[in-house]
Amino acid sequence: MQPLFLHVTLSIIAVGCRNRCKHCSVAAAISDSILIPYEQVEEVISILRAEQEKSPPLYGHVNPCLMYEPMDYPDVARVQKLFHTLSPDAPLVRTMATNGQRIAEDPAYEQLIRDLRENGLEQFQLTLHGLEQNHDWFAGRRGAYRDIMEAAKRIVSAGMRIDWNLFLSKRNIAEFPNMVRAAREVSRGAEVSEMVNIWGPAGRAGRQSHLLITQKDLDRLPDEIRAINLLPQYLPESG
Ligand code: SF4
Repeated sequence: MQPLFLHVTLSIIAVGCRNRCKHCSVAAAISDSILIPYEQVEEVISILRAEQEKSPPLYGHVNPCLMYEPMDYPDVARVQKLFHTLSPDAPLVRTMATNGQRIAEDPAYEQLIRDLRENGLEQFQLTLHGLEQNHDWFAGRRGAYRDIMEAAKRIVSAGMRIDWNLFLSKRNIAEFPNMVRAAREVSRGAEVSEMVNIWGPAGRAGRQSHLLITQKDLDRLPDEIRAINLLPQYLPESG
């Protein structure tokens, strides 16, 4: 029997984020304390599972995620395991976006990454906004660059993939090739993917539209950078 909804997205706002990225519309307004205890997450998943077994089922496919900085949730590995029970044959959460802070700080990071991988996680998505000064400025936290680079090293040593999300703006365009090289250097030996994302004046960054790059800026980038996939929806019109 056809499900009532083909796709359901479940965003569990369980924890805030210690970064204060200028373009982030929500996390900056939320404290970094734990918002939802593990038992409540478990309850939501058991309700979803029960709905899945009804006829007709409520949904055909669920896309769950922990927000905002999933790795700051103390029980992130247990939650990943819960998500995995919803679809053990085709893991639902294969990529986790993180600011890298917990991985950089936690002495037990190897066990944590192992637990996540055993429950279907395949890669971490790391976002860079520039070299140290610019990244810390965009992320709104001194030490954010140091953390993300240390996290990348640790992810590599734990044998996990990295998906680099490389944000481009007028503020970092001069150092952008060096930023890409720094990301490649720190993740040498790992399986990586890269994508260029054009920084937009969303959220608290509404007053920063002067940082939006143009097609002319893109055209001036070296070929090695222009060869990286650019998220097409953010392609500037002209200028
Ligand atoms: S790291 Fe992500 S969740 Fe945290 S403030 Fe930045 S964009 Fe928002």
